[in-house]
Amino acid sequence: MTVATAVPRQQNRAAAAFEYEFGGPIGATLTTLALPLVVLVLAHWSDVGRVDFAFLSASLGDTTNSHDPKPFWQIIRQNSVLCPRCNDSDSVSLLLRCALGVVAWFLFQVLLERFLPCELVQGSPVKGDAKNRLTYRINGHLAFWVTLLLVHAAWPVWDANAALYQFTTAPLATLYKYYTELAFVTILLSAMASTGLYLDSFRGQHKILADGGDSGNVLYDFFIGRELNPRIGTFDWKEFCELRPGLIGWVLLNIACAKQQYSVLGYVTGSMILVNVFHGIYVWDALYQERAILTTMDITTDGFGFMLLFGDLAWVPFTYSLQARYLVKHDPNLSAVALAGIVALHILGYLIFRGANGQKDAFRRNPTDPALSHLTFLQTKRGTKLLTSGWWGMARKINYTGDWIMGLTWCMVCGFDSAVPYFYAVYFFILLVHRSIRDDHMCSVKYGDDWETYKSIVPHRFVPGVV
Ligand code: NDP
Repeated sequence: MTVATAVPRQQNRAAAAFEYEFGGPIGATLTTLALPLVVLVLAHWSDVGRVDFAFLSASLGDTTNSHDPKPFWQIIRQNSVLCPRCNDSDSVSLLLRCALGVVAWFLFQVLLERFLPCELVQGSPVKGDAKNRLTYRINGHLAFWVTLLLVHAAWPVWDANAALYQFTTAPLATLYKYYTELAFVTILLSAMASTGLYLDSFRGQHKILADGGDSGNVLYDFFIGRELNPRIGTFDWKEFCELRPGLIGWVLLNIACAKQQYSVLGYVTGSMILVNVFHGIYVWDALYQERAILTTMDITTDGFGFMLLFGDLAWVPFTYSLQARYLVKHDPNLSAVALAGIVALHILGYLIFRGANGQKDAFRRNPTDPALSHLTFLQTKRGTKLLTSGWWGMARKINYTGDWIMGLTWCMVCGFDSAVPYFYAVYFFILLVHRSIRDDHMCSVKYGDDWETYKSIVPHRFVPGVV
């Protein structure tokens, strides 16, 4: 458990007025209820290939007999969005098996984190206290390759007919077949784990709480997360969940979709290959640059509650794989020229994204790095320096722009027949604009006048000279 100088809770509460985000308790509650449904509805829409609300009437049943509501369990069983395979077999045992699979996957990633060789890296000062830094086990990149190697090598299953163990990649087919059920149980498990973390944040006297997650409102704090860096010994829940089960799981879901397409068509289409490569690079990059996450807002500022836990474990793998799932049944047959254009746009996005994030990370780690000596900066009263040239002199959030361009290309490989794959570009646009506003606010609190000076030197947020 985290032991260090605790911020007295009462002191936080006593602060003049708590600054709520995400629409306060009501917004946080609605988001908590709505996002899981969005995951399941998107899984359905990416399968049928279009925006479709027919499932609503099916799940509510015969509306002419509205005095006879269906029991909750029956709604789940008959609902193509919640549990499409529940009618195939005993639904309780199916969902239990899916839950066991999800837990086993999580524990497998924990084992890799615990036992693979690692680099021990110090995180940022906890809440600005330079004497208090947490140590992280950095081996996510190795865990990524070990997982892919094991999946590629497949694993043995008992073949009763042949009375021997045979090697198979059947688990990948299972991922595709039970995609929705896996999403459903992952959502439930995320909610349970978030509840556990919330309750645990009240145990002991020395928890370090996130400023933004200690409002005293149960629903709001459950959503944002009370404890800043919940840990069991050296195991850091937040850093682990941010990068491993969800991100690597997303890659496996994508591969499962490619495998499914291959089993139906006998080949894998250009779009499916590209979406797997694009997403694979994104995840690989995040894990290769694992230490860079230690300076991000998620790790340094936000508590670990439903927002991040559900986001990491359910939202990311099951909505970010939406394009691959869509392509299984709805490939747009894009021409080689179109695919080449999309690749070029993706490379542009990646260069901006990686260039900007890499430059800031290198500068934050060693501001006197000779390789960065050509860059200008603003010395702030807080002690840290803000880059005013290079990528960070072009626009204050140019890294977001690169990320969004890449996200757009993920959608474009799906063609233009359906709006469903474009959900990601729209959602990510909203997320990045909202995130940039949050970060701008936090920086103005951190840096005061210096932040205003930086904004006058670098006036644009996303696109140099435009916006
Ligand atoms: P940033 O990497 O933009 O980090 C913001 C922090 O950087 C600021 O709080 C400040 O912290 C520091 N900073 C700001 N301006 C400067 C400057 N000029 N010079 C030096 N330091 C500066 O934010 P995020 O953590 O939000 O994003 C990291 C990446 O993750 C982005 O590329 C984003 O697109 C991506 N992302 C992806 C998501 C997804 O779901 N795919 C979700 C969220 C993010 P300080 O000064 O205290 O160091």
